[in-house]
Amino acid sequence: MNSLYIHIPFCLRKCHYCSFSSNVSSTAIQRQYVKALSLELDSLQPTNRGRALSTLFVGGGTPTCLEPKYLLSIIDQCRDIFGFVEDAEVSVEANPGTVDGAYFEKLRRAGVNRLSIGVQTFIDSELTAIGRLHSKQQAIDAYRAAKNAGFTNINIDLMSGIPGQTVASWAESLDQVLSLSPQHLSLYQLMVEEGTHFGRLAEKGELDLPDEDEILEMDERTRVVCQREDFIQYEVSNFALEGYQCRHNINYWDNNDYLAAGAAAVSFVDGVREKRFIDVSEYVEKVLSGSSVIMETECLTLEESFRETVIVGLRMKRGVSISNLESRYGLTPGKYYGSILTAFQDSGMLELSHQYLRITEKGWPFSNSIMAELV
Ligand code: SF4
Repeated sequence: MNSLYIHIPFCLRKCHYCSFSSNVSSTAIQRQYVKALSLELDSLQPTNRGRALSTLFVGGGTPTCLEPKYLLSIIDQCRDIFGFVEDAEVSVEANPGTVDGAYFEKLRRAGVNRLSIGVQTFIDSELTAIGRLHSKQQAIDAYRAAKNAGFTNINIDLMSGIPGQTVASWAESLDQVLSLSPQHLSLYQLMVEEGTHFGRLAEKGELDLPDEDEILEMDERTRVVCQREDFIQYEVSNFALEGYQCRHNINYWDNNDYLAAGAAAVSFVDGVREKRFIDVSEYVEKVLSGSSVIMETECLTLEESFRETVIVGLRMKRGVSISNLESRYGLTPGKYYGSILTAFQDSGMLELSHQYLRITEKGWPFSNSIMAELV
């Protein structure tokens, strides 16, 4: 399976919680960036021509804050260089307020068949509290426009634990999202990161968030509602109707190889992780001067790679494949972790079958500590 991630590091405004690599930039900078990105994609050609992509994910940032012609040229170039397998998953992240029916129709015609729409909440006061630019109505309009343009595989992102949110308002957002009938939901909990607006407020003790009990109630509400609506939780934060699991992300969680292009994008090929320059000007300058865009290279040892594959695989409800671990590393979790693993099995937190090592329902609330022990 050949996967490619492309990063578009631009947004119309920085959300208060955002630690992603994204900036507000002029169209001139965006134009330069697209040119540099195109050159980086060209550089992948000699080693990848004809290696058809199974998944392409254009993320950000907000890819749809680029003019459509730029996004379309990037997708066309990927088709020229790699080609797509017949049932390739071609995803683009979109934010309400940057898209309309015409934009979605262009994406659809260009071969995009999956959208991920960042909504976060359907409560206007909460959208304002987290610094989003769009309203509830714009989010609904964006979703309907995508559907009318022919998209039948749409993810919506929602976020719990945000300032001013209550269990009732979370339930309202869940009800609203389900009334739209998307095929996939990414339901994240707010993480307060250093260097963000929320991080600074938290340092000053000025960030008021829902407490732990409320978060647990929200999680329970999520579980009940998703089960009722036949959404399968296939990863810590991801739920999908049968057949709509995101193949691009499953490839990450299986810790398989993936290519990448663009500022801040990270690729992982043959055990080597390469991180590209984060700063847009630096990235553009490197590409245009013919220098390497790689800021940092990490070569994993066999054991490091094995442990990483176990940890990311445990994020998925089905767990990590034993036969895959054996064929890739010649190692099995039982032999490698020994008594640590047995202790987790004895306490009912982990289950080891012939096929998978997975976290049990009992172990799920303690998943972070389990992973910390196994890393
Ligand atoms: S839209 Fe997404 S990437 Fe852009 S600032 Fe907000 S959270 Fe960050």
